[in-house]
Amino acid sequence: MNNLPLYGKIEKDNSNMEGYGVNEKMEILRQLPSVDKLINSTEIRRLDGEFSRRIITDAAREVLEETRQAILKGDIIRIDDEDLLAGIFQKLKHESSDRLKEVINGTGVIIHTNLGRAPLPEKAAEKISRISSRYINLEYNLEDGERGHRNDIVRDLLCRITGAEDGMVVNNNAAAVLLVLSAMARGKEVIISRGQLVEIGGSFRVPEVMEQGGAVLVEVGTTNKTYIRDYEVAIGENTGILLKVHTSNYRICGFAHEVSGAELVELGRRHGIPVVEDLGSGILVDLRPRGLGYEPGVMDSIRAGMDIVTFSGDKLLGGPQAGIILGRKEYIEKIKKHPLARAVRIDKFTLAALESTLRLYFDEETAFREIPVLRMATMSLEELERKARALKDMLEDIHPFALVKTEKEYSRIGGGSMPVEQLETRVVSIMPHNMTVNRLDEQLRGYAPPIVGRISQDKFFIDVRTVFDDQVPVIAEAVREVIIGGEAG
Ligand SMILES: *Cc1c(COP(=O)(O)O)cnc(C)c1O
Repeated sequence: MNNLPLYGKIEKDNSNMEGYGVNEKMEILRQLPSVDKLINSTEIRRLDGEFSRRIITDAAREVLEETRQAILKGDIIRIDDEDLLAGIFQKLKHESSDRLKEVINGTGVIIHTNLGRAPLPEKAAEKISRISSRYINLEYNLEDGERGHRNDIVRDLLCRITGAEDGMVVNNNAAAVLLVLSAMARGKEVIISRGQLVEIGGSFRVPEVMEQGGAVLVEVGTTNKTYIRDYEVAIGENTGILLKVHTSNYRICGFAHEVSGAELVELGRRHGIPVVEDLGSGILVDLRPRGLGYEPGVMDSIRAGMDIVTFSGDKLLGGPQAGIILGRKEYIEKIKKHPLARAVRIDKFTLAALESTLRLYFDEETAFREIPVLRMATMSLEELERKARALKDMLEDIHPFALVKTEKEYSRIGGGSMPVEQLETRVVSIMPHNMTVNRLDEQLRGYAPPIVGRISQDKFFIDVRTVFDDQVPVIAEAVREVIIGGEAG
């Protein structure tokens, strides 16, 4: 490990270390103070009330151990108590800083799974903070003073917005699919097109989820073409459901055919078999009038007559991580009663955020304005241009040290949604003269708050589409500090 902190005097010139033997090292080791002496020093005693003795003792032990190793390696040849104390302070400071923190997303990937997918609408965030430190009516019916159910909080909203007959919410969409299969198809056959046996990422693979749900997979058709008759001939005594899975993160183009939801529903009805669709993203608005491509909408599936539809809360819906299950009452009732439902139930913060986010869909203009994912996906080129130019102008004074330009580039929806959609965007590109682009990238990731961009053709890119307005000056300040600061240092 080359990033081991050193708590002593360092001998950099290794040639002096020759003949520097075991005895000398032992002598230095003997000079190390004891843990007790360190933690009872006046400097450390001042930390009482801030850190427990156990935490302080652990930090002191770690610093001593690292110092011991450094001595044995010959990196430290003189003990310095002040350095040891500084080491303990540093460790405790690191200990008390949050690991989970705000990050500035300059990648242009709107639903960035590694960066927490959808940033919540302000209203949803406020709602969480308002209810989380108080008691709430999570499972309490205020009208009759009896026990209520947490699902009731968003069920009516979901039904009103989508036209579904009934609905429920769970922890995420993976859980929703697993629960639906377990409740509706355990020990039964599930018919699915070969072209839809997808892997979503993070090890969610449709065939494996089916196995977990105790269902028997019956593949029909081919990778590129599946027809309704392929499903029909596969139907047998033990068929539990017909399943359609949206191939969220890839597209089969060219010589291809997929069976529509409506066709599948018609077939299911004729044979008395429920039809289930895993939509993945599950968008509640139509993006086409705003210049984007088609993503299968929740309402389209409900209208087509799907018995059950599942989708995520934190993809194109733009809310918190959740799995939403909509559909016919008789199936929802059955799913609710399954023992797994309790294991994958939604928590109160998520429920609060989901309720607030869903309410924004009462009016489509409000949804596009207040839900960050929708706003970012449909941001106008003029706004992108303006934002990029503002950032570039704030970086005017770094010109001697870097070439800063605004350029045309493409953003992505991300989160395995609309994989072929290319959204024209504007980026600010920075080509530093006084450091490598990798160094700039690394320094910006280490900034508070961390800034994540993209590197391409030896330039560092900030795509302003995924940057919030108040973050623009923060990025400018960070870049200036790293590039000009790098010059001064
Ligand atoms: C994303 C996705 C899932 C998993 O949803 P999570 O909310 O991430 O659990 C399942 N199926 C499809 C088709 C998806 O796109």
